[in-house]
Amino acid sequence: MKDYYIYYNNNFVRQGNATLSVLSASTQFGLNVFEGIRIYKEDSFYVFRLEDHLKRLNNSLHQIGFNTEIISKNEFLNILRELIILNNIKTDFSIRFTYLINEIDSWSSNKQPVFFIAPLIKERNSSDTYKTMALTKTKRISSSAMDPKVKCGANYINGRYALLEARSKGAELPLLKNKDGFISESSGACVFLVKKGEFLTPSLDCDILESITRDTVIKILLENKFKTKEKLISEEELNESDEIFLCGSAAEITPIKLMNETDFKIGNLTKFIFKEYQLAVTDKSYKDFSWTTKLDV
Ligand code: PMP
Repeated sequence: MKDYYIYYNNNFVRQGNATLSVLSASTQFGLNVFEGIRIYKEDSFYVFRLEDHLKRLNNSLHQIGFNTEIISKNEFLNILRELIILNNIKTDFSIRFTYLINEIDSWSSNKQPVFFIAPLIKERNSSDTYKTMALTKTKRISSSAMDPKVKCGANYINGRYALLEARSKGAELPLLKNKDGFISESSGACVFLVKKGEFLTPSLDCDILESITRDTVIKILLENKFKTKEKLISEEELNESDEIFLCGSAAEITPIKLMNETDFKIGNLTKFIFKEYQLAVTDKSYKDFSWTTKLDV
């Protein structure tokens, strides 16, 4: 990966020079909270659903017990503008915005966290590629034990176990059930099913992250006269569905083929939402939602 400038601990530094101790609370225990945010390049740069990402990060900060307030939207945009200039970025990209404890300490640390904002070059998904997915025995972490609504690094180890299992079954991605046996989410994205022209997605009480893209998809569908059923979804319903897709800031809309499926082709309603989503992330006035923040550099 290119050695981009990042903003770390109040300075612009090359990523390779941004260091922390191997004994820091964050390296040892995954004690960090973060967001991945996409920035799309059209006539200008457009940050997608920035306020919602900042709000979720602020919630994560409080829930993990980090003793700090999140930076303001304006401070964030100023740092972003500088990163675009320093790195001479001309294309779509995404950023990782992470708060961590860079001091030598334990998981019980109540030291002051620092943050970094780092660009990652990431192209838009293409419409004709799909991923294979397997349902795993590995269950999604439960909100009563380790809340999946907190976007914390350590939560991703649950996704890692599921991913290893999915790969051992020959699939690219896992789909996890929750502790009650209902469909939950993938390791880094939420899931939608299409059945007889209807859209279904696991409800928010199914141990999922409150995905910003999931919300975007539901709103886009509603604007287009499709109501989404948010509900408990069984394995049978998954297997009986006509189309499946994942959604997430990184995944955007990713068409899915289940491992046991024969005669697969990307479905028409998946193609429809894929196209609408690409419009929504770049069109400043998409259905009057004000989802994009324009950033002139
Ligand atoms: N679930 C998990 C576990 C994730 O990591 C992500 C990616 N942030 C999502 C769902 C999708 O969330 P969002 O649409 O907010 O990116």
